[in-house]
This record gives sequence, structure tokens and C-alpha cells, in this order.
Amino acid sequence: MRILVVEDEAKVASFIRRALEEESYAVDVCADGVQGLELAGADSYDLIVLDLMLPGLPGLDVLKGLRTQKIKTPVLILTARSQVDQKVKGLDAGADDYLTKPFAIEELLARVRVLLRRGSGEAAGVLQVDDLVLNPATREVTRAGQRIELTAKEYALLEYMMRNAGRVLTRPMIAEHVWNLDFDTFTNVIDVYVNYLRNKIDRGRERKLIQTVRGSGYTLKSESE
Ligand code: CA
Repeated sequence: MRILVVEDEAKVASFIRRALEEESYAVDVCADGVQGLELAGADSYDLIVLDLMLPGLPGLDVLKGLRTQKIKTPVLILTARSQVDQKVKGLDAGADDYLTKPFAIEELLARVRVLLRRGSGEAAGVLQVDDLVLNPATREVTRAGQRIELTAKEYALLEYMMRNAGRVLTRPMIAEHVWNLDFDTFTNVIDVYVNYLRNKIDRGRERKLIQTVRGSGYTLKSESE
């Protein structure tokens, strides 16, 4: 899952980035409203964390700009305690949630999880494809009830594939969502990681869930689908 953080306070931005990266999200940070709108407008993020007081263009205008372009990426706005009216305006302009600074990082992470879940139309909070189950809250993965241990990157790749089960995911799509924006030699790395996942998820199983779509990329689905 790929998250854009638009925040001009360098300390806050790097604090958020570190926490999100520890949870295996791919994170891009930008410190300016105009650039934020441009990046978010490319519509390749799964979530945007948006500060309201920004140089270039205020956060509220970034948000309005996105919604005008019909970009529905979930937006979590950050407001200062003195800007209660801004919070209301933000929600009216199409924000999905807000946090008042200063906030506990655990709360930010919890809200991020909720918004990502909502964005994928996931109800119970657990992702399931065939007998493969991933719980984003505990980061536990099981197949046929057996626990599977994954590295952080393997987990991020699997979560992205499971949230998009049945869709063909091209290598550039995977690179964008699981690795960072400026990742240039990604093709080979993606194939390597898909193989790691295959070894852990599919090896020795009757039903293979990770499938190669020749000339395009990969898809994760039940063979019966
Ligand atoms: Ca700010």
C-alpha cells in the first residue's frame, strides 16, 4: 500500500514516514501544497495524509482540487488544535478522517488501517483468498490454518496482491504500490519477491494462488475463479 504524506514540518513528516515504513507501507513525503496536489492527482496512492497549513497551496485547497478531479483516494487531514473550524471545513470538503496535532503515532496508524480497509471495501478487517488469510491488524498470515512467516516486504507485497485479488497487477503497478516512487530497477526485484512469496504460500500446495499472467504481470486468485 502506498501512502503520500503532505506535511511541511520536516520533523513531523519524518516521524510519520518512519512509523508508516515500519508497518511496511511505501511512503512518499512532500512539503508543499502544489506538489502535493500534483502527486496525489496522479491517483496512484492508496491513502493521503494531508496537513492543512502548507506552503504553496493550503491543504484544504489540495483536498478540494482532488475531489474536483474525482480522485477518491482516502484523505486523513492533520490539524492544529487551534484550527477546529478547519477540521469541519476539511470534512465538508471530502476528507475521510482527521487527527489533531499533537497526536500519538499509534492513533495515526490505527486510523490509516481503518481508512485503507474502507477503501478496499473490506468488511470484517481480514483479507481472504481461498484458504489464505491475512489480518492487517495483527499482520498474521495463515494458509489452511498454518501460520506463514513473512518478511516486511513480502508481507507488503502479499497485502497489496490480496487487496487486489483477481486483478492483473503489472510490474509497474506493484513497484508503485509496494516499493517507492523513485524505484527504477524494480522489474527484477519484483520477480524475485514474487518467487519468495510463492515459496512460502504455494509451494507443495495443490492449489496455486499466485499466478503469472504472461506478458503482463501477476495475479492472486483461487484457481477455481
Ligand atoms: Ca504545516
